[in-house]
Amino acid sequence: MSRYRGSVCRLCRREQLKLFLKGDRCYTDKCSMETKPYVPGPHGVNRRRGKQSEYGSQLREKQKVKRLYGVQEKQFRLIFSKAAGQKGKTGANLLILLERRLDNIVYRMGFARSLAEARQLVKHSHIRINGKKNNIPSALVKVEDVVSVREKSQNVAFIKESLESSDRKGLPGWLSVDSKAFSGRVVAFPKRDQITIPIQEQFIVELYSR
Ligand code: SF4
Repeated sequence: MSRYRGSVCRLCRREQLKLFLKGDRCYTDKCSMETKPYVPGPHGVNRRRGKQSEYGSQLREKQKVKRLYGVQEKQFRLIFSKAAGQKGKTGANLLILLERRLDNIVYRMGFARSLAEARQLVKHSHIRINGKKNNIPSALVKVEDVVSVREKSQNVAFIKESLESSDRKGLPGWLSVDSKAFSGRVVAFPKRDQITIPIQEQFIVELYSR
C-alpha cells in the first residue's frame, strides 16, 4: 500500500482534479485538494514552470497512468506491447487492458476503498474469479467472469463498509454488482469513452514510437 502514500495526492494536485485514489480520505475535508488546492512545488515553483517540452508531456502522461493503475515500468511495457499487438488503437487498447486488471475490477466493483486496498485483498486471497482463488493483481478478467469475495472474508469490516459507501463512487456501465452476494460480473469490456479518468493516451503511444 505504501507505494501510493503521498504521491497520489500530488498527482491530483498537479492535474487539479480529484482522482479519488485514497479511499475514504478523498471524501473528507482532509483531502489534499481541499487543504492545498494548488499545484505542488515549493514557493509555487511548479506553477511558474513554463511550457513543457513534447517529450516532457509524453513522459508525464506515462508516469500518470502508471501511478493511477499502480503499475511498475517493466509491467507497463509488457502491457503496452500487448496493446500494440491488438487490433484497433493502441492507446485505447492499453487503457482497456489496464481496466481489466483484477485489482482494478475489485476496486471498481466497490469491494475496496482504493486501488491499493484492492490489491491487498487480491494478494491475500480474499478474491475469487468464477469461484476459484486468484491472488494475482495483474490477472486479466474476461467478459462474463464473476468476481467475488470469498465466503470467509465477507465479514471483514472494511469490505462491508466499502460496499456500503460504493454508491458515491459509481459503478461503470460495463460491470454489474450484487452487493448482497459480495459478487459482480463483467458484462462487457469497457469502451474508451467509459474510461473517464483524464488521460491523453496518444502521448504514451508517441513516446514509445520515438
Ligand atoms: Fe486525490 Fe484528495 Fe484522494 Fe488525495 S485525498 S487522492 S488529493 S482525491
